[in-house]
Order: sequence, then structure tokens, then C-alpha cells
Amino acid sequence: MKKIPYGHQRIEKDDIQAVVEVLESPWITQGPMLKRFEDALCKYTGAKYALCVSSATAALHIACLAAGIKAQDEVITSSLTFVASANCVLYCGGRPVFADIHKDRANIDAEKIEEKITAKTKAIIPVHYAGGPCDLKKIAAIAGKHNLLVIEDAAHALGAEYNGSKVGSCRYSDMAVFSFHPVKHITTGEGGAVLTNKKNLYEKLLKLRNHGITKENSKFRIRNSRTSGGWFYEMQELGFNYRLTDFQCALGLSQLKKLDNFIKRRREIAGIYNQKLAAVCGIDLPRQNLECSWHLYSIRLKEPKRRRDIFEKLHRAGIGAQVHYIPVYFHPYYRKLGYKRGLCPNAEDFYRRQISIPLYQSMTEQDVNCVIDSIYKIFNELEKSPEKIRRKRE
Ligand SMILES: *Cc1c(COP(=O)(O)O)cnc(C)c1O
Repeated sequence: MKKIPYGHQRIEKDDIQAVVEVLESPWITQGPMLKRFEDALCKYTGAKYALCVSSATAALHIACLAAGIKAQDEVITSSLTFVASANCVLYCGGRPVFADIHKDRANIDAEKIEEKITAKTKAIIPVHYAGGPCDLKKIAAIAGKHNLLVIEDAAHALGAEYNGSKVGSCRYSDMAVFSFHPVKHITTGEGGAVLTNKKNLYEKLLKLRNHGITKENSKFRIRNSRTSGGWFYEMQELGFNYRLTDFQCALGLSQLKKLDNFIKRRREIAGIYNQKLAAVCGIDLPRQNLECSWHLYSIRLKEPKRRRDIFEKLHRAGIGAQVHYIPVYFHPYYRKLGYKRGLCPNAEDFYRRQISIPLYQSMTEQDVNCVIDSIYKIFNELEKSPEKIRRKRE
């Protein structure tokens, strides 16, 4: 039986050709494709600077370092997200502080951010859950009032729009991070990027991507006759090798050209689900609008007790459903750090009811119908009175 996953890449012949061309060229890492991909990301989002790295996790890490996060600092982030959104704070020795989510769209609740601010708070990392933009204006206002930096975890939101700008434009933030993992909108296998409009942040990020090294003579801290040779470089801080290869950049560039079509197709499928699943009594559909980039189609069960059963039935029917997300602080590593259950009731309730059903650009009509039919079948079987669930037939 064919399994329909919850998310999947779409790689075509021309994408493959773009990669092959780089593999046959003299530069396979940090060559001309890197700059072309970064420029294309700037052009797409409207941000001044883009910096590609080996993953969004790496991007979040160096974004936190560039923001100056260090031991004892607190950073407020969403409780309902992938662990990387909070782990990046731990990498810097800081402490993630989880704010609860807004009930319906599962984004960090701006009202709840302010309650969490202390003298130690340095930054906010909002996550655009499923590609539905957070209330960035409100978040920027809070950040401005308390002198905090805003780093958007936009891993779900490449192609989404907020208030007339693309997410990633950094109009209301200091930095924004994208992921190019295969389940995200475009892929480079593994990969990510940081976008910013601030030159000082960009220069810090550049160094951190490459071992903390600079090769620019004018930036050297030790300047004398011995450091003027063409071979010289300086390591000025402890950076990393977070570089993205040139053949991955070629893939990213090729994929980025198709992004608008990918988003269009995702919105189409979401529209079909919205229409066809509206009659299923046991579920709440996602409350997203057109600005959403639809990374996930996230349904919630009215009856959380049924989640395991429904999840397993979907998998038996070949539907690779997934749950997004286990609240970060439920994980044993976080529990050991002292985080307790009950911290964010909305996130915990959302988690108990949530299931992501397949949504990706390469889904066929047949795949979409198969998901819808399976959901009807499962809910019809579950209901004691079958008339409770009516299949809308046009
Ligand atoms: C996928 C994802 C990441 C991490 O992305 P990688 O590129 O796999 O490191 C971070 N945050 C969120 C919200 C994600 O969904």
C-alpha cells in the first residue's frame, strides 16, 4: 500500500540538473551558487541580508549568538513548537521561557509574553505555527518597550505574508530563520537561512558560520607586518562550520523559483480540506487565513481521548499523520531542567487534540481524496449514530 506522508518534497528533473551542474563545476561548496541563492532569498522576502547555513537549527543557534544571548539570559518562545526553537537558547547557556499559545492559531499569545518578561529577558523567538504569521506588530511593540530582540522562527512560513510583506522581510523583527528540510516549503536536503536588515548582525552571523574567522584585512584586530600577508586570517570568536554546500544552494535556488506555485497548490489543497471536512462533527478545522503558507494542515479532535485510536487508524489506512507538537517542556531533558507540566494550558490542550494530515505540493487529487475518504470512514465507524456525520456531496 502506498503511504501518504504528512509532508514531502517535490524534486523535478530541472532541480536535479541544477545540482549536477554544480557537481561538475570546480566549486562544490561556498561557490557562486551561495550568493545567488542568498540574493534570491533577499529578493523574495524583501530583507537586506540573507545568510545560508546547514540547517534552521544552526541558523537559530547563530542568530541567538549574534543577538548576544549568553549564560543566565532568558529568551521567551512558544511552548508548542519543534524543540530547536528553544534548544538554540540552551546552546548559548541561556534559559528558554515558554509562553502559552493562542487557542485557535497555536501561535505564541502576545498578551502572555509580557507576563514572562524579567530583568534577564533578552529576546523573543515567535514561531509562525503551520505558516500562519504571529501578531508581529504587537510582539515588536512589546520588544521595543522592553528593549528585546525578536528572532522569528519562520521554519513554517516561507511564502507567508504579514501585513503586506513577506515573512522574512524582518519589518517587525531583527532576524528571521527559514528551514529547507524536505518537509518544509522548499528543500536543500538539509539547510536553513537567517535573514536580517541589520548590517552589524549580518557581519556577526557571517563570522559565526565560518569558525569565527575573518579574512578581511581591514577587520583584523592585530595589525602589523606579519598579518599583512595574503595567507592571513584571524579567528576572532568561537564559531562553527555551518556552511551550506554549493550544490545544495543550486537546489535551493531551483526550488525557490517554484515556491509561489508550491504555496498555491498548498492553499488549494487546504481549501479542499476546509470544504470537504467541514461536515465531520468530531473535528475542528484550522483557523487560518489566506496569508498562511500552509506548512501543516492541523486538525483538532473534539474528543482528545480518541486521538491515539484515530491516529492509528489513519496509519493503518496508509495516511502518515503526525502530531505537531509535544509541548517542548514535556520532554525529559526539559523536565530535568525543572520545567513542569501545567505551565502552558492552551498548548497542552492543543497538543492532546492535534493531528496533522498530509499537505504538500506534490500531493495528487487522488491522494487528497484518499485522505478525505479515510477520515470519513474512520469517523463514521466511530460514531454510534452514523447520521451524526454527513458526507457533503456536491
Ligand atoms: C523544522 C523546524 C526547525 C528546524 O529545522 P532544521 O532545518 O531541521 O534544523 C526549527 N523550528 C521549527 C518550528 C521547525 O519546524
